[in-house]
Amino acid sequence: MILHGYLRSQRNAGKSLTFVELVSIDLSHSIQLVVSSKDGAGGEGLLARVRALDSDAPVAVTGTAKQRAEKPASPREDPSGIVSVEEFEIRLTHLQPLNSFPKDIIIAEGTNIPPNQRHLQIRQGKALRDALKLRSHAYVVVREELCRRRHFTEIETPLLFKSTPEGAREFLVPTRTAGEAYALPQSPQQYKQILMASGIPRYVQFAKCFRDEDLRADRQPEFTQLDLEMAFASAEDVMTIIEAVIRVLWHKLLEIELPNGSFSRLPYQDAMSLYGSDKPDLRLGSKISRLEYALPVDLVRMISDLDNPAVEVMKVSISDDPQNTRKFVTSFMDSPEARPFDQNPDGQPGIFIYDSRRPLSGLQAFGFEAAEQVEERLELEEGDLVVLQARRNAPFTSGSTAMGALRLALHKFAVAQGYMSPPSGFEFVWITDFPLFKPSSMDAAEPGQGGSAGLSSNHHPFTAPKTAEDVDLLLSDPLKCVADHYDLVVNGVELGGGSRRIHQHAMQELILRDVLGMSEARVEDFKHLIEVLRAGCPPHAGIALGFDRLIAVMLGKESVRDVIAFPKSGKGEDMLVKSPSRMTAEQLRTYHLQVQEVKSEVDGKGN
Ligand code: ASP
Repeated sequence: MILHGYLRSQRNAGKSLTFVELVSIDLSHSIQLVVSSKDGAGGEGLLARVRALDSDAPVAVTGTAKQRAEKPASPREDPSGIVSVEEFEIRLTHLQPLNSFPKDIIIAEGTNIPPNQRHLQIRQGKALRDALKLRSHAYVVVREELCRRRHFTEIETPLLFKSTPEGAREFLVPTRTAGEAYALPQSPQQYKQILMASGIPRYVQFAKCFRDEDLRADRQPEFTQLDLEMAFASAEDVMTIIEAVIRVLWHKLLEIELPNGSFSRLPYQDAMSLYGSDKPDLRLGSKISRLEYALPVDLVRMISDLDNPAVEVMKVSISDDPQNTRKFVTSFMDSPEARPFDQNPDGQPGIFIYDSRRPLSGLQAFGFEAAEQVEERLELEEGDLVVLQARRNAPFTSGSTAMGALRLALHKFAVAQGYMSPPSGFEFVWITDFPLFKPSSMDAAEPGQGGSAGLSSNHHPFTAPKTAEDVDLLLSDPLKCVADHYDLVVNGVELGGGSRRIHQHAMQELILRDVLGMSEARVEDFKHLIEVLRAGCPPHAGIALGFDRLIAVMLGKESVRDVIAFPKSGKGEDMLVKSPSRMTAEQLRTYHLQVQEVKSEVDGKGN
């Protein structure tokens, strides 16, 4: 029998004997090879050859498996996760080196390997290889559930698409025809809707998407979505399917049974008021509530210069000893984590400690009435931290408030400092009823739809208004219009989102032209979609989950880079192949391009 693998850890036992580990091709197991100069005619040459070989070099070996003489130890796992086979060893009879492994390449456990050697990071990192394996299993499980059990058709949509103002900044692919370019899809949104009008009732795809956006917050310029769309379907139908997919993934890959029943639902407005975030981590507790009516004016003035601000309060249970909580507060306030809250132009947080030895239990600044209200509403206990924060008294438009960010920062810091144990488990929640539009000035990083109405679509311009009343608001008060849009959130991470779509061309045109104020030329960019909707397109709804993020969440990884074989750096570069690369003069000529040294809009913002 020929075995393939990598050599490792030679141990010479005198002149005539060497033990060497052969590591399996998947780097999961190792077995001891015994090489003796006394074995047969070629023994001496074989021993010399083995001793000359580099550690980690690939080889093909032949030998005889033998039960080990001494009582086998239980299998050992070395620091790189390789499990040794202890019962058998192989008496080597033949060895063929398949390549060398030079000494200047070091992959020993504990070596810090830079991203430009991603191949070595993967080879050294069992966790990384395991993540890639789980990811591969996840494809299979999802296909089994959706395509085999639930009659979805997997369809590839083109990657060479065209530029349309869907929302995110696109990557362009110039062609050899002067002035013409494809755009890489920011999502297969338009094609999947076209499929709905094409008589494909259930579509799914593991879709590669490309967005030329700000790479903050662990985003990749190219990423994979689990993308689906269903004809004759409502938001509820889509949510039910996704819940089934999540359940089966958790069951088959993590051996975790998620509780029966639907995931909880939380309208956007409630998520923002209760948790200060549209992707709340429900495991943390610390609900936020509004308070200002009962508060003394002096206290409000102390925490904010705003006129008539909204003031919110929450408690964080740090310790039942006020002294400890005080220590926690001091170290938090001295840490860089507190800086954004200190510098909040709407006001710094007011921080109090519930301490029975102090007047009004440490809430004296609240005055008697408000202190009583806070005690009752927050069910305060000795040592609790009470936080007040002011914000503009205006409808929520963004994804997070200062109080929401502070809630996360305080919990994170408390966990890091050992005041709390890390939150565990998985808390799924659907955030629903998002506003259909936001003021376009809100997100400078995204171009939106470029309309003149000062609005952009919160999700994308194909999302349907939720009810007939919302349709009525389209022209009169669009910012009040609620979308039939849902995001799936788990443990404070947005896994993805979707919506019921506009399926009638007149409504789609109204939104593009009259509500968003897009020019005729831009509306024309969507002509294909409008034509398709006109051709009796059925009602439909869909969703896309960020597949990289989904796998990262399943594995408890902080970064999607830990579950992508070849991720881009924070600057959008692949450090291994060194992309992007400069175009040659020849390429520029071929694509009729010219490099102009102007500072781009993006650069200007980033610096
Ligand atoms: N195309 C959307 C996105 O990428 C998802 C969807 O609405 O299905 O966010």
